[in-house]
Amino acid sequence: MASLQRVAVAWLLLLTGCVAGNGQAGGDRVDDQQIPPPAAREDARPPDAGIPAREDARPPTVAPVVSNGSVLAGHTTTALSPIPLGTLTNRFGVVSVTVASGVTTWETPDAVLRFFDGSRRLEFNGTLLWMSGATTTNTVTNTLAQAEGTNTLEVVRQRTIAQADVDTVLAPLLTPTDQTNRSDRSDHPAPFIVILDPGHGGDDPGAVVADMPHEKALVLDVARRVRHRLRAAGIKVRMTRSGDKTLTLAERPDFARLRHGSVLVSIHANKASNASARGIETFIMPAAGFPSTADTVPVAESYPGNLHDSASLQLAYLLQRELINQTQTVDRGVKRARFEVLRLAPCPTALVEIGFVSNVDERKRLAETQYRNRIADGIALGIRIFMLQNSRPPL
Ligand SMILES: [Zn+2]
Repeated sequence: MASLQRVAVAWLLLLTGCVAGNGQAGGDRVDDQQIPPPAAREDARPPDAGIPAREDARPPTVAPVVSNGSVLAGHTTTALSPIPLGTLTNRFGVVSVTVASGVTTWETPDAVLRFFDGSRRLEFNGTLLWMSGATTTNTVTNTLAQAEGTNTLEVVRQRTIAQADVDTVLAPLLTPTDQTNRSDRSDHPAPFIVILDPGHGGDDPGAVVADMPHEKALVLDVARRVRHRLRAAGIKVRMTRSGDKTLTLAERPDFARLRHGSVLVSIHANKASNASARGIETFIMPAAGFPSTADTVPVAESYPGNLHDSASLQLAYLLQRELINQTQTVDRGVKRARFEVLRLAPCPTALVEIGFVSNVDERKRLAETQYRNRIADGIALGIRIFMLQNSRPPL
């Protein structure tokens, strides 16, 4: 695992996002920010580290979703009601629990999960996911009744996770075809319609580096390859842009809503000032009341995209898993950020970052048609598996 020293270095190497500086309000993001490892991340921010531009810190550009009472009430419920992991094992069919060195390992007949004390990190069958909240530990005292009326006290360490993560991470991962997971899914009309959103376009080139097509052209090429694969499988696909067209950030989820999209997959490439940064990552919304993965400041507001938290997690997990399977590149995990396309999402939505054009090796790979085909295979497979898991049962 990374050392504390590496954490400090990582924070000092805060990186610039591929859309930074493009002037589109509300959509800037830090495309690559090193995520500190579990032990030190939650409260360790070097005092002089540059604080990245946070989408969280900005006033929301849309009215928060307020349902079943106030936004604050929802926030309070999710943030203050941690669920002991031990009470969840029966529900999720866990057959083995082991704890070692601050790592709790669950095994089910189909999956291995690893929770990390004090961290939002979760590993699911080897794929890295970042929960909205951390696995927390506290000590609880049990009274053990003994013979002759005497009691002794047993002090045990209890691990808990947020209710939001039980509902929108564990449930969709461990019971993906369970109808009860679908309460937040858009009731999409048949047939299933995939909306692909190549990032940037027109006046906005996205990430620009020498000897490489602009990000807008790279991601359009990949999106077309994904479209080709899905259409060959008989799936309806619409693209927010099929040429070099300027679109605002808000027009992308608008397009998905108007076209009755069943899922929305936004495709981007990363650029970082740290030239060694590489790999693939997939973004979804943090749950209301929780910070972005790169941040520690909770955001209470709920947004339209939060209505699809469970399904978006499932979609992002499948995309990330299949992308890493296809490319064998660095798994940077499923992360959380309130990007505008995610905030306004009208359906299950994920934003994939297919690699770093700022990394020499990755840039070379991205320039190869064969490698872009593998990326397209990964995205198309992730979408198709999501479709299978969410197909309506036969009448
Ligand atoms: Zn981008």
